[in-house]
Amino acid sequence: MNTYPENLVELMDLFPTEEACLEYLSLIRWPDGYVCTRCNGKEVWKMSSGLFHCKACKYAGSVISGTLFQDTHKPLRLWFQAIWYVVSQKNGVSALGLQKALGLGSYHTAWEWLHKLRRAMVRPGRDRLAGVVEVNETMIGGEKTGKRGRGAEGKTLVLIAVEDTEKGIGRIRLSPVSDASSAVLTPAIMQMVSPGSIIRTDGWNGYSGLSSHGYTHMPNSNHSVKDSDAIPLAHLIASLIKRWLLGTHQGAISHKNLPYYLDEFTFRFNRRTSSSRGKLFLRLIQQALEIDPVPAKSLNTICSG
Ligand SMILES: [Zn+2]
Repeated sequence: MNTYPENLVELMDLFPTEEACLEYLSLIRWPDGYVCTRCNGKEVWKMSSGLFHCKACKYAGSVISGTLFQDTHKPLRLWFQAIWYVVSQKNGVSALGLQKALGLGSYHTAWEWLHKLRRAMVRPGRDRLAGVVEVNETMIGGEKTGKRGRGAEGKTLVLIAVEDTEKGIGRIRLSPVSDASSAVLTPAIMQMVSPGSIIRTDGWNGYSGLSSHGYTHMPNSNHSVKDSDAIPLAHLIASLIKRWLLGTHQGAISHKNLPYYLDEFTFRFNRRTSSSRGKLFLRLIQQALEIDPVPAKSLNTICSG
């Protein structure tokens, strides 16, 4: 399945009806034909309601069963338009922006959809970074400045990992961490960066355990050279995240929801050079079909961020 719209006109042409949307989802989810989610059976009766009745176990499933779209009361066409809007705006979109663009009656629906789509922005089992990687932690959110290694009020400590490649900045990974101790940073880095990589950090002693975990650790502990920035890429990413949160989202992000905004930032940043918005549309739909349903009550339902 490699069909996707290149622009808004093609989006409308490809998906004129609910049936066209369902057909598209079916082709992505079951490229070799329907597979029963209960028993893996392949023999089905296709009902006029759009449901598939498994001949073996009698389970009636639809293409959205067990996916992000399960239990939606809104047309899939509207979802597809929301996804198009999310991927076609370079810096993303706020709930208010999405509500206005789609003419949704409820701000809460727009807010909920964006939060659900953020859950689909992280591919389960994604690769770790490799090669030369800069790592640093930074405080995001809140008002007060905090002491290093301690969570200041309202702020979240976020670990940033960014590849330094021959072509410039590569991929990034972001991970909220509880503090900047070695006991927290080391396992967090092991989740983000493959062993064998070269890791550049500043001289913070929370990174001192890395060389005993299969990494070549290059700390910059040279404090005497003024203006020497050992980790310019990690600093750049930190400032881009802060600017994005302030710009697109007016900085109104709760501590609880911040991890999902970081997922969205990562999704956008790692695909920033993709020339086709349509590929991002397809990717986000593929991942929405791969993840489990996100019940509304599992979202942190304070609408502010
Ligand atoms: Zn079955």
